Amino acid sequence: MSDNKEHIDFGPVCYHATEGIIVSDEKGRIVEVNPSAERMFGYTSMELKGEKVEHLIPERFRTRHTLHRKHYAHDGLPRPMGIEMNLYALAKQNRELPVEISLCRFEHKNEVYIASFVIDVTARKLTDTRLRESEENLRKLNMQLEQKVSERTRDLEKANRDVLKALEKEKELSEFKSRFVSMASHEFRTPLTGILSSAALLQKYNEQNFDDKRAKHIQRIRSAVKNLTEILNDFLSLGKFEEGKTKPSFEEIDIEEQCSQIVEELQVVLKNDQNIEFKCTGQNKIVKTDPQLFKNILINLVSNAIKYSHSGTTIKVTCKIRESLFITEVVDAGIGIPENEQKNLFTRFFRAKNSGNIQGTGLGLNIVKNYVELLKGRVTFTSELDKGSTFRVSLPTR
Ligand code: ADP
Repeated sequence: MSDNKEHIDFGPVCYHATEGIIVSDEKGRIVEVNPSAERMFGYTSMELKGEKVEHLIPERFRTRHTLHRKHYAHDGLPRPMGIEMNLYALAKQNRELPVEISLCRFEHKNEVYIASFVIDVTARKLTDTRLRESEENLRKLNMQLEQKVSERTRDLEKANRDVLKALEKEKELSEFKSRFVSMASHEFRTPLTGILSSAALLQKYNEQNFDDKRAKHIQRIRSAVKNLTEILNDFLSLGKFEEGKTKPSFEEIDIEEQCSQIVEELQVVLKNDQNIEFKCTGQNKIVKTDPQLFKNILINLVSNAIKYSHSGTTIKVTCKIRESLFITEVVDAGIGIPENEQKNLFTRFFRAKNSGNIQGTGLGLNIVKNYVELLKGRVTFTSELDKGSTFRVSLPTR
């Protein structure tokens, strides 16, 4: 202690206070330290008395503190120090501790003194840090939870959609089957009756030896059986498609050859004096497609053209091969499709009003559309009542 300042009597309250109390003079020299401050800083009061208060402040804050202290010694009112700041004090062996300090300036026997009341907030800081960490952990957990919940919700929604889709499909299939049963029972009746009566007549004609009449009835039976087979084939094709079992298998084919073979096969179905004209144009006749599906498409379209046009007419089949597409057209001069019904043409079981008693299932064009889509192509048509129809299928060449 370099100065001979009067001893400042702490009195029992300050002496026993749990806050550390450090009294310094106008020049910042420590003149008194209570036992709590001794414990907090790890020094005895003897060690501290006479030292500058900056001795108890970390190096990095010292210069600024000296300025503040000088200013405060002149006109300072009691106040907390470093409001809203994290204050640190320096204890023995350079141990830093977080503190809260309030200051109080007083005069005693014409000398100015400053008392600092110091609280060690290490424990509170620790609690705060832990609290912040817990809050942060909680926030992270919440986020993870929310993410999990939204993932589960998404999964659940998808599962629901899948179930609904499957149900929808199931419903469609059962509707399709029941419509088929009613269509088949209706469509089967005519050919079956024909077969029955022709068979009965055959027996009769056999006895009396009528060759030409016998031949006519055998032909009737044949055509009735053909009709029944067509109905069954349509149904089987669609059933297979519905079950997802129709998978295109692409291979390179000579499309001109393929078309003319199909046209050849269909000659037997032509009506009296009906004929088919076939023409194929394009540089390269080799295309990559599924020959079986393509055959089905063309047979359906040409059979319709034959079925829905009169004797003595010509059906034109053309195939134009371009760079990336080949376009097959079937043109007939038949009964045409009423304009107001055209929008339903590719719908299952649809039959236009003017189809009258021409045999059919209303499944063929739906099959055509499905197959064309499987082959990544497009089917379109134009038609005029009593003038004829043109069906056009564009398929990729590769
Ligand atoms: P189906 O011929 O067995 O009845 P489709 O699905 O092939 O079934 O055809 C559906 C309907 O479209 C036919 O019933 C007929 O009314 C009409 N249609 C199809 N092609 C032609 C055509 N070339 N000319 C006139 N009408 C047609």
